[in-house]
Parts: sequence; structure tokens; C-alpha cells
Amino acid sequence: MKLCGGYDIKMAGRPAVEIESPVEPKELFLPRFSCRFRFSELCIGDGQHVRRGQVLARDPGNHGVPLLAPRDGTAHLDLEKEHIVLRGLSANPPEALETPEAPAHISRELGSVGMKRYKLLTLGAWQYMFTAHNGALPDPFGSPQAVLVSTLRLDPFLARGDIQMKTMLSNFTRGLEQLQSLLEYQPIYLVLPKVATAFAEQVREAVRGYAYIKPVQVPLRYPFDHFKILAKALGLSHDDEHPTWALRVGGILAMDRSLTMSLPCDTKVISIGGSGAIAPTHLTVMPGYPIKELLSARIAAGPVRIINGGALTGQAIGPEQLGIDVECAGLTLLSEHVNREFLGFVRPGSDRRSYSRCFLSALRRPMPERMTTAVRGERRPCVACGFCEEVCPVGIMPHLLHKLIYQNDLDAVERARLDLCIACGLCSFVCPSKIALGEEFRQTAETIRQEHQN
Ligand code: SF4
Ligand code: SF4
Repeated sequence: MKLCGGYDIKMAGRPAVEIESPVEPKELFLPRFSCRFRFSELCIGDGQHVRRGQVLARDPGNHGVPLLAPRDGTAHLDLEKEHIVLRGLSANPPEALETPEAPAHISRELGSVGMKRYKLLTLGAWQYMFTAHNGALPDPFGSPQAVLVSTLRLDPFLARGDIQMKTMLSNFTRGLEQLQSLLEYQPIYLVLPKVATAFAEQVREAVRGYAYIKPVQVPLRYPFDHFKILAKALGLSHDDEHPTWALRVGGILAMDRSLTMSLPCDTKVISIGGSGAIAPTHLTVMPGYPIKELLSARIAAGPVRIINGGALTGQAIGPEQLGIDVECAGLTLLSEHVNREFLGFVRPGSDRRSYSRCFLSALRRPMPERMTTAVRGERRPCVACGFCEEVCPVGIMPHLLHKLIYQNDLDAVERARLDLCIACGLCSFVCPSKIALGEEFRQTAETIRQEHQN
């Protein structure tokens, strides 16, 4: 596999390897939005009693993926804040649901495979699937060219695949078998870390007998777990007709849960980590779990920024989001840096490592660094160090793009291939001037997209 750029990010505040279960909440606040989904089509009325696994709303723009009720309770519509609030919850154990009847044309065209895929969609497991090249939800009834299953998670603080697999390896291999049963002849690439641990060897051993699985090993450098990077390194080209499907360990476990046990996928493993977390941890939670309650004993005193997702790619959560959304992989808590750092740029401090080797900290052995929202002194102009270009995994020149955006020359920005950017945020992370390159590129890409539409 040919991979370029990347960086081995070492951060203090990573969660422990155990997975905790928090107490049952008294009410759930289910956001009707997540990174990819907008559950705009309501399927219930205000004050209606709902059963666990019942469809509360759907996203008509994404093959009708459902927002499921994680518990029995009474639904209240908070239209202003775009949440469905479930009250009067009962913690009944999950019951196997009746296999929903697939529409006639799906059974006719795809037979039992179509029925299985419909079951994945209706029980909430399809939401774990991505199109490798653009991150979109693929058509559940389409035909992929290959499937990527990644056990990696390299954005600091997010729940790694091995944490979820450790206690559920047999469910994982059963989920791989279920995945294979959805395909005809397409290969499944199982992406494993290039590490020599006993557990990594156990996983390799567990999948050794599966002829359709092709294990690939990837060094632990961020963002080599990104599906687009992996697809490119494996020579899987972008094809709208036959996309590459991609999913992580949670998706394989969801396949097992829905297809083997006929249970709705109403819990997930998320992480809470970062410099603002007390005892960083992994938790099994249900969508809608109140964020305030989840963080009450886990967030450090003082101002802390709450980020939905990873430290490099997540988005700060505003007060409008009350509960965990269906796609949340973790909450990253970063202590807000309030005091101005005097000459922070030229003396990052012996406790903090810089990508640049020109500071004293470079003499120390690599150590987990404490990540805060500090920009190491005031914002500065580009110093043309070239670090962003060195680490960029898609081989574009972030510093050049930054200059072209500053000049508002969008034609030149396009020629410099902004479209290749995967928004991994690594260029911003290593930039000694702390320029928010990733965010700038995301906004410019959106402007260009809108200009093309008009
Ligand atoms: S955010 Fe884009 S430009 Fe920056 S390192 Fe990642 S891929 Fe390269
Ligand atoms: S890392 Fe920052 S300062 Fe260095 S070249 Fe890139 S944009 Fe400029």
C-alpha cells in the first residue's frame, strides 16, 4: 500500500480500554440531525406512546434511514430545538423485532439479499455505512465494487476498533459473515493496524479461514484510517455506479445485531476524552442520552470546549444540542485556553511537542501531549515552513491554497485541487502559525460548490 504524509499524533487524555455503562437516564433528547442525516419526516405525533425500536422519524434524503426509539416511552416533539424528547422511559430488555417486509420490487430484483439489506436499513444498521470516496450514505440496494472494514480509529480520543472488538470478537466475525452474505463476489478488505500485539494476532487468526477477506495492514499514522485514503491506496477508483462501501467495527457489530438477532441498533460505543475530561472513558450509550448528564461527573472545572467527534475533525457542540446524536463517535473535551501565551510561538514549552524540530522539546522522547484550544500565542501569518505540505495525505499544497483563498482567486484554488482535500485537519494541527486551514478549506469548498450550482 502506498501512503504518503500523515503524522503519529500522541495525546494525553485518551480513554481507558474498558467500556462503561452509564445509569439509565430519566429522559432522552433525540436530535433530529446528525453529521449526515436530517430526520425531517416525522412518523409519530406529540404525546404518543412509542415502543423500543419504533421509527420516530426518517431522513427522506438518505434512503429513508430511520431514527429509532431506544426505549419504550412517551414522545414529545420539541420542534424549536429539533429534538424528540422521550419521557416515562421503561428499561425493558430489547426484543427481537419481526422481520419487516421489503417492498415487492426489492424482493423481486434482489431476492433474499434485498430482504437482508432492507432489514439492515429498518433496524438502524445501515447508518453505519459510508461511501469511501465521499463519506455519503450508499444506496442499500446498489452494487459495490468492494467493501472496506476498518478496525482503526486514529483521530485522538475516539473509540478504537480493538476496544469494541475485545469482548465481542465472535460477534465481529459473525458480522463479517453477514456482510459477505450481502455481496456476490466483491472483496472485503479488512484494515488492521500494523502492530505486533497479542490481540492483533488474535484478530488475524480469527479471520484467517475466510477466503473472501483480504487483510491489509496500515501504520498507525493519522489520517491513514480515512476511507478515501485507504480506497486510493488499495487502487479502488471512484465509481458512482459501483462505489466502495466502507464501515468500522461498530457497523459490523450492528450488522450482527440486526441480521443475526433481529434487534434494533439502539446503543453504540462512544468515547469521552481530551484534556478537559476527568478519567477519560468509553461508554455504551443510546442516542438521545442527555449530554449534560453524561458529562456531569466527567468534565473538568473551568471553561471546556465540547466537540462532537474527534479533536481534529469534530465540530463544537452548541447549547442547541441536548442529547447524543445517532452518528456521534465520541465527545472530545478540550480545556479552553483563556490566558494569552507570551511568545508561545517561539517557546511552546517543554511539556508540549511541536511538529517542528527547532524547539527544545524536540530533544525529548515523544510524549503524550496535553491538547487544549491554545494557539500558542496570537495568530500569525504563514511562515512558509512547508510542514502542512509534508503531512498532507493527499499530496496537495495547503499553504498555496491558503494564499490563493486569501487572494480570493477561486479558479486557481480549483486548479490547485482543493477537491482532493479530505478535511482531516492535520495541516492546521502541525501549522506553527496555527492557521485554521482545515476550516478555511471546508468553507471555500462549500462556496465553490454553491457557485457551480448557480
Ligand atoms: S485538511 Fe486537506 S489540505 Fe489539510 S492535510 Fe488534510 S487533506 Fe491535506
Ligand atoms: S504549516 Fe502553516 S506556516 Fe507552515 S507553510 Fe503551512 S500554512 Fe504556512
